[in-house]
Amino acid sequence: MNDARISAPLVTDFDTVIVGAGFAGLYMLHKLREDGFTARVFEAGTGVGGTWYWNRYPGARCDIESVDYSYSFSPELEQEWQWSERYPRQPEILAYLNHVADRFDLRRDIQLETRVTAAHFDQRTGLWRVATDRGQHVTARYCVMATGCLSLPKRPDFPGVERFAGDWYLTAAWPREPVDLTGKRVGVIGTGSTAIQVIPQVAREAAHLTVFQRTANFSVPARNGPLPAAEQQRIKADYPARRGISRDSLFGVPVAMPAAPQRTRDIPPAELRQMLETLWAQGGAMSLLAAAPDVIVDPEANAIVAEFVREKIRATVKDPKVAALLCPSTHPLGTKRLCLDTDYYETYNRDNVTLVDLRATPIEQITEHGLRTSAAEYPLDVLIFATGFDAMTGALNSIDIRGQDGLSLKQAWADGPQTYLGLASAGFPNMFLITGPQSPSVFSNMVVSIEQHVAWIAECMAYLREQGIACIEASPQAQAGWVAHVAEVANSTLMPQTDSWYVGANVPGKPRVFTPYLGGVGPYRRHCEQVAARGYEGFELIRRPVAA
Ligand code: FAD
Ligand code: NAP
Repeated sequence: MNDARISAPLVTDFDTVIVGAGFAGLYMLHKLREDGFTARVFEAGTGVGGTWYWNRYPGARCDIESVDYSYSFSPELEQEWQWSERYPRQPEILAYLNHVADRFDLRRDIQLETRVTAAHFDQRTGLWRVATDRGQHVTARYCVMATGCLSLPKRPDFPGVERFAGDWYLTAAWPREPVDLTGKRVGVIGTGSTAIQVIPQVAREAAHLTVFQRTANFSVPARNGPLPAAEQQRIKADYPARRGISRDSLFGVPVAMPAAPQRTRDIPPAELRQMLETLWAQGGAMSLLAAAPDVIVDPEANAIVAEFVREKIRATVKDPKVAALLCPSTHPLGTKRLCLDTDYYETYNRDNVTLVDLRATPIEQITEHGLRTSAAEYPLDVLIFATGFDAMTGALNSIDIRGQDGLSLKQAWADGPQTYLGLASAGFPNMFLITGPQSPSVFSNMVVSIEQHVAWIAECMAYLREQGIACIEASPQAQAGWVAHVAEVANSTLMPQTDSWYVGANVPGKPRVFTPYLGGVGPYRRHCEQVAARGYEGFELIRRPVAA
């Protein structure tokens, strides 16, 4: 970057523009205000909450325990908020985030119902110019993208969808008003994490539910239930230690990384069986992965655990043909997101539920009165699309982001995302990404990863202010090294082989790149800390001109 081109003016509209008001944007705003920066959040939704504002579908809840899927930055907040369940429902998480917005007086700096359409870096001033769909143009020294990894749903592109005479819903844009499915013939397309939560709920309400499955997924029981006050009190009494273990862990959950991990295949079969039975009885997908992390590396370990789950499916589902269809066979366990459910497999024992195998009989079209596969037409009153997201890069690429020399982010990432630490991208000075591609992000308890990124970014901005530095930009060399490292770690696992949204396989035309960093939340955190301690190694820092 050329110093001479930067002549920073003294006045900007805000120090920072933050895009998005989910877990990431809310905490970023709070932290920056605490550190004496001005900030404005732009949020497309009519309320705060991000994922938990948009995904109001029946059964929506998180798959990390409530006491861990929550902010740790305020000891008062974590003590005063009472969770009602082990895995809270969407309304409770949304209420929590609204409470955070009120408790820390965040709303005055959040502009809702405003989509950021463009963010252009002005080389002359060293500032970002941000445009919104309300016709606003604001300047800021920093731009923080808190746009979410899973915030751009795929639109239904099935032939004939516009002809459907019934009602159709996208799970990720579920209406705020209650949807009454009583007595209706409902179809659900998809069997990912979302569908696995929706299906048992809809089956209880609808006259008939038809599930259209293309790929059977592995799912682990949640064993959800009320979180008794005494149990919550016990956890809260030791919160700092629990949070510390999560921060140092592999996935951001309170399961310590073993010093000398035992290979699953080396565990005597009877002992392994006992361990898996205990984990199954306790519930929790992350606990299963954390207890046997080599399942994503070692095909033999994977085969053992996968077969254990298949056995459970066969033992639960009464019709052997349906059970066989529900047994995943196309991918190793955990290489698509391991799902968490309440009564998912049990639901297929109901008389009012039909499973359709789309691999054998693909969807041909949606008709006026239902859905036609290559084998049959299914009459439907309601269709629910639980078909996923343009994940990781979709929300970022929807904004016209331009950095040095007019370089567009979309162009720069045409062959896949290019970031340094998942925090910044070369050519885009003073732009930060929260849980960006190539950080642990979606392969972790995201609240832990969000807090780590927010704290790192805020500390970085404070450093730049103290040192009189106008611009920070990832160096292309450091970025290339990080991208190669992320790929190397991913390629040492079974993950990239599977067609999943982790590699962009769910969006036609998307470059196939494995995007989350699999090196673990704890090691990644320490690496980021070292980068900062070494004066932001791998970044180029440009001093502020003396006379601006
Ligand atoms: P988001 O919550 O996605 O918020 C991003 C916000 O940015 C959105 O409100 C969006 O409207 C806004 N935005 C995007 N682009 C623009 C723009 N151009 N202009 C203005 N606003 C914009 N993670 C877990 O760790 N555990 C879980 O159990 C879990 N469950 C999940 C369940 C569902 C249904 C989904 C979809 C995701 C789940 N996740 C889970 C991942 C979840 O996304 C994160 O945990 C977390 O909520 C992300 O917070 P965020 O603030 O980074 O992004
Ligand atoms: P997803 O995992 O991408 O699942 C989408 C489903 O739709 C898949 O079964 C997919 O089949 C199917 N599908 C997509 N396009 C299709 C088509 N054209 N025809 C037929 N089937 C099609 O999306 P998601 O379920 O919304 O989950 C996304 C992520 O959000 C999760 O992985 C997780 O990280 C997060 N999430 C978490 C929870 C939680 O438990 N807390 C809940 C929901 C979401 P294929 O597999 O064959 O592509």
